[in-house]
Amino acid sequence: MTVQQLKKRPLSRYLKDFKHTQTHCAQCAKLLDRITLTRGGEIVSKTAIAQLDTLIDENGWQAERQSWAALCRFCGDLYCKEQQHYFDIIGFKEYLFEQTEMSHGTIREYVVRLRRLGNHFALQNIPSPTSTKAFFDDSLEEWLPPTSTNNYRIALRKYGQFQTLNQNTLAHFQENKSTSDHYPKDFMLQEGGKRVNPDELTVVSDSGEIEQPTHLQLER
Ligand SMILES: [Zn+2]
Repeated sequence: MTVQQLKKRPLSRYLKDFKHTQTHCAQCAKLLDRITLTRGGEIVSKTAIAQLDTLIDENGWQAERQSWAALCRFCGDLYCKEQQHYFDIIGFKEYLFEQTEMSHGTIREYVVRLRRLGNHFALQNIPSPTSTKAFFDDSLEEWLPPTSTNNYRIALRKYGQFQTLNQNTLAHFQENKSTSDHYPKDFMLQEGGKRVNPDELTVVSDSGEIEQPTHLQLER
């Protein structure tokens, strides 16, 4: 008798099991409700998954598994559809998660705001600011949407803080390559001259609205 071969199953079956074992989003660690599966950073639809009928054994699956991730719908949208956005949406979201104490809901509101604002700017062909100052002074003021303007302004300033932190961190690394790699501690206290209260950001959306960034055009 030869060594018993490992049983082969279609990839779709492994993925079905995989999906059931994932409880938290691989990006934001939020408890998963609706799951989006990605392979190599690209969303793979339910239909496409059902058609993955390649027969593989457990070893094959262990190798294949490295390419797959289970994301919440919010992160799935962000990571797979917003790579070319006007703003660095993904970096901004990570900054809010890692460097602030904001709740998941507040972070989501900031990100939704900034996405809409980015789409709004892109539609008007506003060039990306070359200096982070533009996020704090009023150089973008005239381009802000006419409705909910203050919420966009707040999101823009928060994004400016993220961009400033990026620059400071970069400069810090260049100056102190061998020493500590902590972010400047006093940074979180700097608010570009004005204290911004996250609570000022009103709740704006359900997930349906996120799919329609052009909604801004209709608010006039
Ligand atoms: Zn997530």
